[in-house]
Amino acid sequence: MEFSHIIVRYGELTLKSGNRNEFLKKLTKNIRYNLQGLTGFHVQTKRDRMYIHLDHNEDVQEIMERLKKVPGIHNFSPVLRAGLDVEEAKKIIDRLLETKLDKEYKFKIQTKRPNKNFPYNTNELNNVFGSHVLINYKNLKVNVKQPDFIINVEVRSEGIFIFTDFIKGVGGFPVNTSSKALLLLSGGIDSPVAAHTLQVKGVEVEMIHFQSPPFTSAEALQKIFDLTIKLSQVVGRIKLHVVNFTKLQTEIVKRVPSNYTMTSTRRFMLRIAEEVAKKEGCLAIATGESLGQVASQTLESMNCINEVTNLPVLRPLLTMDKVDIIKIAQEIDTLEISNLPFEDCCTIFTPKAPKTKPRLEKIKGYEARDDYSDLIAETLDSVETYLFDKNGRVVTQDMREQEVKKEEKDDFSGLL
Ligand code: ATP
Ligand code: MG
Repeated sequence: MEFSHIIVRYGELTLKSGNRNEFLKKLTKNIRYNLQGLTGFHVQTKRDRMYIHLDHNEDVQEIMERLKKVPGIHNFSPVLRAGLDVEEAKKIIDRLLETKLDKEYKFKIQTKRPNKNFPYNTNELNNVFGSHVLINYKNLKVNVKQPDFIINVEVRSEGIFIFTDFIKGVGGFPVNTSSKALLLLSGGIDSPVAAHTLQVKGVEVEMIHFQSPPFTSAEALQKIFDLTIKLSQVVGRIKLHVVNFTKLQTEIVKRVPSNYTMTSTRRFMLRIAEEVAKKEGCLAIATGESLGQVASQTLESMNCINEVTNLPVLRPLLTMDKVDIIKIAQEIDTLEISNLPFEDCCTIFTPKAPKTKPRLEKIKGYEARDDYSDLIAETLDSVETYLFDKNGRVVTQDMREQEVKKEEKDDFSGLL
């Protein structure tokens, strides 16, 4: 079937009406970014919905697949448009019903009439179109309570839009409409899902990863690159900070009793992350922690870990079950990468019996025995920053600034 448009609905956006225009510009830009490489459409953004005009049908399925992933889209519908004419609308309904001839179906007509100038009211329209279907299609019966499908008819000033499907989007807010958070990205299943969850809520996420070469391998770092590339697919560009943690981690293992090394390692990760976050203008730190999942993820442990920073530590997966986290990892296509066997620094240095209920005074006491400031400074010096986009390209800082300027010019011309 040749659809004429896709109607995109924003949902949650209505809540934040103050920022509406800014949001719509971002959403339009993100949609354009996600549809790059496809042809035969153009985007028209309106206050309450977006119309993607389809000029030909070749890429429609792919366009819809990609729209499903764009944060800020609540749902969308492929539609057929008739002029403001009942007879023409009937013909369009006939085209829509071409796929409903194979067996008996129950249907219902649902008309909306935002265009109050149209000469028929919604009841009259329901009757006109309902009778048309009943007379011409012996396999179709009306059932208002439990229809197999609904023929939606929307009479607007631009024409009569007719469709049967509402396709669910990820919802949330357009990417990067909120401020930045720095996410601790490990090679595991959870932290990429945590990143995605924040992105869907509009938060711009930068990544920080701690590696301990030669104990951690080049493959383990490649995994982090691949996860970052994957997570940049919907949002555009993502910055990744890679910390060389070997020296600091080795010292922690030497200096802190083994049942507390895990807690201490996490505290130092957070101290380093806080410095990077402040430098980068991130207002929060985020992790993939989920309550009770492993030894370090108890409230006692979080209490000890949090103590080193004043920044909020976001844990979007806190109360989620592992099965649900895995499901999202599958959907966003990070699971396969996360399941690769290369170990990260925590796995390698994990003590045999980490404290599940560490005590704050104890860990503070252990850490107070030594001065770590030089080690921290040295570790901060080791940070290497990369920039990824969906093509996996590593762009240097300077190039990035140039590119961002160029992109803004391109993308904002004639946006709304
Ligand atoms: P994940 O699947 O995200 O690795 P996990 O269940 O394996 O989580 P942990 O290994 O205890 O749990 O890690 C908890 C959180 O700490 C991770 O979600 C991540 O945010 C952070 N983290 C752990 N290791 C690293 C690392 N090497 N670099 C950056 N962050 C890390
Ligand atoms: Mg892990």
